Amino acid sequence: MKQTKTYLHNPGYLKIDLMLKGIRVDKEVLKKANMDKCRNLFDVACGIDVILPHNTWVTVPYIEDFTKDSPYELMERDGRFFITHGDESVQVSVVPTPEFYTLKTTTGIQLSRIGLVHGGYVAITPATQCDFFNKAIECRYCAGNLDIYSNKGRVYSVEDVLETVEAAYKEGKAEIVYISIGFSDTPDGGIEFLKPYIQAIKKHFNTLVAVEALPPKENRWVDETYAVGADSVLYNLEIFNPKLFDEICPGRATLIGRERYLDALRYATTIFPNGTVASHLIVGLEPIESTMSGIDYFTNIGVVPILPIYRPSLGAKLSQYKMPATKDIAPLYGHLYRAVTANKINTTWVRDISIVTTPLEGRFFVGDEARMKTWMQNFYKSRLGLKAAWSLATLRRKLKVKVGESSAHRDK
Ligand code: SF4
Repeated sequence: MKQTKTYLHNPGYLKIDLMLKGIRVDKEVLKKANMDKCRNLFDVACGIDVILPHNTWVTVPYIEDFTKDSPYELMERDGRFFITHGDESVQVSVVPTPEFYTLKTTTGIQLSRIGLVHGGYVAITPATQCDFFNKAIECRYCAGNLDIYSNKGRVYSVEDVLETVEAAYKEGKAEIVYISIGFSDTPDGGIEFLKPYIQAIKKHFNTLVAVEALPPKENRWVDETYAVGADSVLYNLEIFNPKLFDEICPGRATLIGRERYLDALRYATTIFPNGTVASHLIVGLEPIESTMSGIDYFTNIGVVPILPIYRPSLGAKLSQYKMPATKDIAPLYGHLYRAVTANKINTTWVRDISIVTTPLEGRFFVGDEARMKTWMQNFYKSRLGLKAAWSLATLRRKLKVKVGESSAHRDK
């Protein structure tokens, strides 16, 4: 990879730096990138989705005030797009805003309210309420991406969700459905609520479904999550340091508990295939060493750590935290890559996400030899590979659920 004084020629570093600093874009360039209509849409995080070299997806902020100081600028020359920094540039692709965002369901709801695309995923939260909101114990970094202020969430119907998935798939905008729920004060962690959505999506689409939830009280609901059709599960601990976890996530700490997170994750790795159980650790809310310990702990038990970066936002209660610098957090991603590789964790499921750096992208933070090893994984990044993964997942679930059913009967 070219040695320069900027991050432009290393997609891993560049992705992080763009997420942190944003990009300057002229109105005319936005129009040419088919992005100007983004401003008219409700509730859409208006980052520009850009594909950097080596198929590295990133959502780059460009509307917020801080982006005016960014060293990066998006330029267009003869229909091709470049990111520039000083007198250097790199060619990129710009992903137009999905057209389905402007469509409405038959019940009149704008589809961008129900589903948002982040790289190869369409993310859907069928109920916009989290039970922490009413008790003033919401996670302190929660900026209200759900309905935090009104305390009364909206629930989209299974049909609304199916129409959204169909529109996203028809447009070729997504290959995986990522369905999430906030805290629900029931022993099942919300999986009973999500079940009809997951089953309907699996019935109507030949696709993979990832579920993001808070851990259920009992492990049998982890089995149920797999049995109803989830291919991947995320229980996001967010903060590995126990004291900071209690302070920053009071609801998670008091109503679920750190130990339950770790137990549920450990158990899930015995049910779900290698590489499909994941947990977020937010970079910037605890010391780097603590995030590194979290990476080591998770990878040792077979969990994929995903490292979103904390960016203080107006709605969040943690505005005293400073944004980390790319050079300070870069070692984390190299460490992540080495840890998943050493523990033989499959990194092909958590990939092509534009809003976080994936473990596979951690290869850009280590030596060239790591990049050579990824040629196999490229197969799984192709559409053909995804089909193969889907068929394997279906077969594996059939076998696993049969085994699970008989062991459940033995337990009675
Ligand atoms: S679980 Fe925490 S981060 Fe998620 S919606 Fe509830 S308060 Fe916000």
